[in-house]
Order: sequence, then structure tokens, then C-alpha cells
Amino acid sequence: MLGFFYEICDTEQPARDENYTDEASATRVRNAVQDWRERLNAKDAAGGLDKAMGVPAKLKNPWGVRFKPRSSASSMSMRQIRGDSVGQLVQLDCLVVSVQQVKPKVQIVTYHCETCGCEVFQSVEADTYTPPKECPSTKCKENKQSGNLHRMVRSCAFTRHEEVKVQELAEHVPAGGIPRTMTVQAEGDLTRMVKPGQSITLTGVFFPQDLPYAMRMRQQSTQKMFIEAHHFQKHKSGYSETVADEARAS
Ligand SMILES: [Zn+2]
Repeated sequence: MLGFFYEICDTEQPARDENYTDEASATRVRNAVQDWRERLNAKDAAGGLDKAMGVPAKLKNPWGVRFKPRSSASSMSMRQIRGDSVGQLVQLDCLVVSVQQVKPKVQIVTYHCETCGCEVFQSVEADTYTPPKECPSTKCKENKQSGNLHRMVRSCAFTRHEEVKVQELAEHVPAGGIPRTMTVQAEGDLTRMVKPGQSITLTGVFFPQDLPYAMRMRQQSTQKMFIEAHHFQKHKSGYSETVADEARAS
């Protein structure tokens, strides 16, 4: 879904300057690979890239797309998020209870065909992906060959990924109720932003996620809801109840 906004931003962005330099080595490698692809493209049909399979925009650009809430946007409590919020940008006040380790997550997998020499791209949105069995290039199809695909780790696009568990604020829990929790997926620049115990205003898109087969069998549900993080705003005070407890103790 975000791919639509990404494509628009990609077409609107200005061209790179001649004297453009970026110190980050990952960006430099990405640019070098991109230059090499453009050279191949210029050479055209001579065993280069297949025109039908364009290079995905995510592989070309070192940036991502984020939505920042308007300053007038009001926060909700976790209990106010209902079915009609699915697919919408939601903003809620919550408490961070746990933060998992930051892991790499693949965005674009690239393959190299041994038979025709073309590059094949696979865009990965979910947690799992199935590698293509056959080379989809026109050259291999015309020759009726399946093509031997090799994964090229060096030219794949990766991002940082972190899973954060958030819980309702104490004041939003009705008397006698159990605080609700929710899973938040943070990527790229949003990783390592929050720590357990911090109370934050979170903005993100409320999404369903397909569970893997084994988990579906156990949990008897095919999907799980999560929030795709877009913006974190830390509150000045932390967990308010601890402050109240300390005040009571002293
Ligand atoms: Zn091929």
C-alpha cells in the first residue's frame, strides 16, 4: 500500500547532482550498483537487463516514506481502536513494555540467472517469501529454458526491523480491567528510538498480518493485528504510576 506513495515520491525526486557524495558506505555501494545497472541498460539488449522487469524504486533510493501526524491530530486510547480503523493512520498514547532485538529485514531480493545473465527482482512485503523457481525474462521464455537463479546477497535491499510491544496507559484502563497490549513494527530510522518504560504517542497504520501456517493451527485465527510505526513522540514524564508510588512511599 505504501508502495503507491513510494512510486510517486520516486518520480517527483530531483536527479542526483554530478558532485553528489554520501559518506555512508551502504549508500555508496547502492549507488555503485545502480550506476552499473544504468550502464547495462545503456548497452541495451546485449545480454543486459530485461526491459520488462524494471529495477524496483526501493533498490535505487536510500530513503523511505513516513507519515507524520498533524499537530492538531488528537490521540486515542488503545480501546478506541476498532474495526473501522483498519488501514488508517492512528495516533495513540501508550507505554512501551518490551523492545525486541533489531534484526535485518529484506525488502528486495535480487537473483542472477545463469542461463541468460539477467537480473531478477523480488519485492518482499511480508515476513516470509518464496523464491521464484523459473527465470521470468523474455529471453529464457523464448528459448523455453527455466533458467538457473542464484540469489545475490550483495545487491539485495535490507532494512532494520524491530518489534515493540506497547500497553495501554494506566488511566485508560477501566477499574478492574486488564491492560491491553499491541505489537508495533518499526523499520529503518524508527528502530532503537524507544525503550521499555517510556510512555509515548505513537502514530502508525493499523494493519492485519497473516500468521504462518503453524501458528494459525495453534491460535485458530489466520490474522493478527499490528501497527506499522510511522512516528514516535516521547512524553516528558515516564510511567506515571511509578511516580505516584514513590510519592506514596516517601
Ligand atoms: Zn534467464
